[in-house]
Amino acid sequence: MSTLVTGIAELVTNDGEGEGGLGLRREAALVVDAGVVAWVGAAREAPAADRVVDLGGRAVLPAFVDSHAHLVFDGDRAAEFTARMTGQRYDGGGIATTMAATRAASDDTLRNLLAQRMREMRSQGTGTVEVKSGYGLTVEDEARALRLAREVTPETTFLGAHVVPPEARGDRTAYVELVTGPMLAACAPHARWIDVFCEPASPYAFTGDEARVVLEAGIAAGLRPRVHGNQLGHGPGVQLAVELGAASVDHCTFLSAADVDALAGSGTVATLLPGVEFSTRSPYPDARRLLDAGVTVALATDCNPGTCYSTSMPLVIALAVREMGMSPAEAVWSATAGGAQALQRSDIGHLTPGARADVCVLEAPSHAHLAYRPGVPLARLLDLGAEGGPTSDPTVAAPRS
Ligand SMILES: [Zn+2]
Repeated sequence: MSTLVTGIAELVTNDGEGEGGLGLRREAALVVDAGVVAWVGAAREAPAADRVVDLGGRAVLPAFVDSHAHLVFDGDRAAEFTARMTGQRYDGGGIATTMAATRAASDDTLRNLLAQRMREMRSQGTGTVEVKSGYGLTVEDEARALRLAREVTPETTFLGAHVVPPEARGDRTAYVELVTGPMLAACAPHARWIDVFCEPASPYAFTGDEARVVLEAGIAAGLRPRVHGNQLGHGPGVQLAVELGAASVDHCTFLSAADVDALAGSGTVATLLPGVEFSTRSPYPDARRLLDAGVTVALATDCNPGTCYSTSMPLVIALAVREMGMSPAEAVWSATAGGAQALQRSDIGHLTPGARADVCVLEAPSHAHLAYRPGVPLARLLDLGAEGGPTSDPTVAAPRS
C-alpha cells in the first residue's frame, strides 16, 4: 500500500544540494511504498496514492542515525555523575562499576533495560542505532550482550576492548589475547563491527599497539573496524583508524594537525559526541576545524551510564550548534547522513527515492528548531503502521475529509 505524506512545510532530503547539502524542499510531499521512499517533490505535483497523510505544515527529515551507543548495561552511576559535578576528574575507571552490575543481571533484566532505552531513542526521532558490547568483558558476558543487541539492531559492535577489567589488570597481554581469541570467536557471529577504546591517557584503556592487535584480529574474523580515539588526550587512535580503513573514529576531542589531515584524506568519518563533554564538563571537540578541513563529521549520543546517559539526538544537535560552532544545517546533516556514513549505510540518512522510509517529523516548521528550541520534545518517528495496520501517529490516525 502506498502512502502520500503531504503538508510538509520543509523537507530535508539530504540529496547534497543547497544549504549544508540538506536538499531542502518547501511545501513538499513524499510517497512511501513498501517501506521505501518512492517519490519526492512539490506537494502540488504529488502523484495519487492509496492513502494520504497530511502533516499540516510540519518539518520532515530523515530519522536520526545514532552511530555510537552503549545500551546493554545494568547499574546506576548517578552518584559518580554527582561527584564529577563537584570537581573530580574522569579517567575511565567507572566502567568497572557497570561491568559488575551487568554481569550480575539476568538476560530479561538486560533485555528490558535495552528495550526501554530503544523506546526513548525512537520517541525522539532516532531510526537506526548502533549498539556496543563492552560491559561484560568475559567471553560469555560479551557474547550475551551482542546476542541481546542483535534483537534490536543489525548494527552491533564487539567492544571487548572497552577497558581491561579489574581481574585482568595484572596481565594486560593475557587480556588482549582473550579478546582476540576466544572472546572474538564467541562474539563475531553476533557482531558487524569491532571497536576498541584506544586511549593511552587512561590506565584502563588500550595503547595504540594493543588497539592495532585487537582491530586486526577483528578484521581477520570478518568484522569492520571503528575506534574510540583521542577523547582524553592526544594519541594514536585517529592515525590507526585511518590506516586500517575504519568506518569512523569517535570522540576526536584532541587532534593534531596531522590527525586532521589524515582524516580529510580518508574515508573515515569523525564522529563527535558532545553529550560526553556536556556531561563531563570537558572542552568540546573543534567541529569547525574538521569541517573546514573537509572531514566528514557525524554526531551521535554515546549513550552510556558513565559519561553521557542521554538517548537524545536533538540534544546532541543543540549542543553541536551552541557549543561546537556547527550551523543548524551542518548539525542535522551530521546527525542523519553523517551517521549513515559512519555505519557505511546507503539506505538510511536521506529521503530520496530508494531510501528506507525512516521519517522523522518535527512539531515545528523547520529543522532549525531542533537547536533553536533545546530541550523541547519536537521530534518523533512517523509511524505509518504495517500495510494500513494500526499506527500510533496522531497525524496518520486523524480522519481525512
Ligand atoms: Zn563510547
